[in-house]
Amino acid sequence: MSTNLTSLTKDTHLIEDCLEYCKKKKLLSEKQICLKCRFQCDLVSEPENTDRYIWRCPICHAHISVRNGSIFERSKLELSTILRFIYLWAYDMASYKNIRRECNISSPYVIAEWTASIRTLCNEYFFRNPCQIGGPEHTVEIDESLYTRRQNNADGCAEEPFWVFGGYDPAEKDGFLIALPDQESNTMMLMIKKYILPGTTILLDSQDAFDRLGEGYEYLTVEHFIKFVNPDSKSNINQRPGQRIWREAKSRNKNECGLKNSLVDTYLTEFMWRQKFRDDTFDALINQIACIYNFEQLAPPDSLVFVKQEPQKTEEPYNLVSS
Ligand SMILES: [Zn+2]
Repeated sequence: MSTNLTSLTKDTHLIEDCLEYCKKKKLLSEKQICLKCRFQCDLVSEPENTDRYIWRCPICHAHISVRNGSIFERSKLELSTILRFIYLWAYDMASYKNIRRECNISSPYVIAEWTASIRTLCNEYFFRNPCQIGGPEHTVEIDESLYTRRQNNADGCAEEPFWVFGGYDPAEKDGFLIALPDQESNTMMLMIKKYILPGTTILLDSQDAFDRLGEGYEYLTVEHFIKFVNPDSKSNINQRPGQRIWREAKSRNKNECGLKNSLVDTYLTEFMWRQKFRDDTFDALINQIACIYNFEQLAPPDSLVFVKQEPQKTEEPYNLVSS
């Protein structure tokens, strides 16, 4: 069952439960090796620490944060607060007002920083899983649309138009949106080659798109086995699923009053990501964080793990490893 805000709050309300939740979801490491002694650290109570627990080396007594190597590492916010923030972002409820009310975060800087970090995760997802849609017996709708971005210049802030190229496969409900550097036919051909699989039937939105392909048309038809279909009439264009997706992307761009130049690609990636995981965005995001901050990769080889000597304990270690 997918996570909802009630179950997340219940699972992360107490710090011990929250640590257990993060361990189970692989957001925090289950173990920590002291880099100096190479011994397995103990998890001990540390009331002064935000997380109430800390890793302690049984030999040199060095302290290491439970957040070491995790997405939470550089933040001072409580773990449960960050998880709630991620939840609100995932379900598109991360307005400043909501974040302040639900997460008690009032710093716009902190909100912007976490939002940027999460958007980077979406970028990373597509970097690791390059998006190619279509294939034999698949029809992909393509579209070019004019968007606006904010440009700071001597006279203040101006809006500058830019072109976005999109593709959508209604059968797979999968698509992409890419900011184009120009409207040259060669650029469009390269984008089709990069994002649409050989053997696809491409549904064009207009004769203009056909014309713009120029020599690329023949290349893609012969070398990339793409079949192009020009719609018979424009009357049914607006009813196509791809058109609805692009209208949504465009209205979002409008709501944010255009995007800062540097944010355009990240923002479009976020839109693609939301389309792809729309039914289960929080769990998808949590799984992706676990893949990117992979603690198993960080674990030392077996030969480096020595037999643990029992230290003299003054505090009860909290056992993060399930029995
Ligand atoms: Zn040590």
